[in-house]
Amino acid sequence: MDNRWVALSELPAKVKGLIADNGRNAVRGVIDAIYPAQMLDRDPHDPVNYAAPNEAMMLGGLSADTWGQIRFLSDEGCDMCARPLAGGIYLGAGGRCEGCTLKPFPFTRTRAACLYGEASKSLILPFKHADRTDMAPMFTQWIGRAAAELIADCDIIVPVPLHWSRLWSRRYNQAAEIARPLARQYDKDYLADGLRRVRPTIRQGSKVERERNLKAAFMVTLAGARRLRGRHVVLVDDVFTTGATVRACSKVLIAAGVRQIDVAVIARAASEADAGL
Ligand SMILES: [Zn+2]
Repeated sequence: MDNRWVALSELPAKVKGLIADNGRNAVRGVIDAIYPAQMLDRDPHDPVNYAAPNEAMMLGGLSADTWGQIRFLSDEGCDMCARPLAGGIYLGAGGRCEGCTLKPFPFTRTRAACLYGEASKSLILPFKHADRTDMAPMFTQWIGRAAAELIADCDIIVPVPLHWSRLWSRRYNQAAEIARPLARQYDKDYLADGLRRVRPTIRQGSKVERERNLKAAFMVTLAGARRLRGRHVVLVDDVFTTGATVRACSKVLIAAGVRQIDVAVIARAASEADAGL
């Protein structure tokens, strides 16, 4: 168990290096080797899984080690950006961090299921890059619990889109893999093609260049304009780092007449440096 945990904790560094060097097939090979698919399988001999299928689904078949190292978040952080506050101070409804007070986001609320740390990263990266869509039900359940109030209030759930070139190489949009079952589960409308990413993410360049690129990265489609006007949207993404992506999405949604936007993500990076994406 300990050895496996060491391998998991090393995963992000290996993934990052391999993305640069060898592309996605190599990444998938390494992840498959050190992070076997049966990790999420249920074990009928495990009395917890066997006796309590709902709890087993929550654990998702994760080892107790991994489960224990994920820091799940509740309402302890900023209402607007889900930034966890030091010491776990509870702000209460509507409480905002200093950053959101000085420069509010165009969306109203954010909920994150967990903190983006080594343990959650070791689950999210394979989900993003290595065809581990089998993890989607687990993440859907996490977000469903963390963002229950937001989802109950909304009319329609929209995933943050990928650029077509990335969708082509990954074959699926990880945000959509969560947003779609979430909408089904909560009996909400779902719109996969309302937002379009018209510029791919750039990882090189200065922060200013990356932000400028992101500002013009999204547009609302004709179908989106028809179905989103006047409605309350929950925007779903995997990781909230600086909020620049969901900010850019929200601006075009508001320009298209969306009434309110809330954001639901798997994980919140406590700082940009922690994200390591
Ligand atoms: Zn905030």
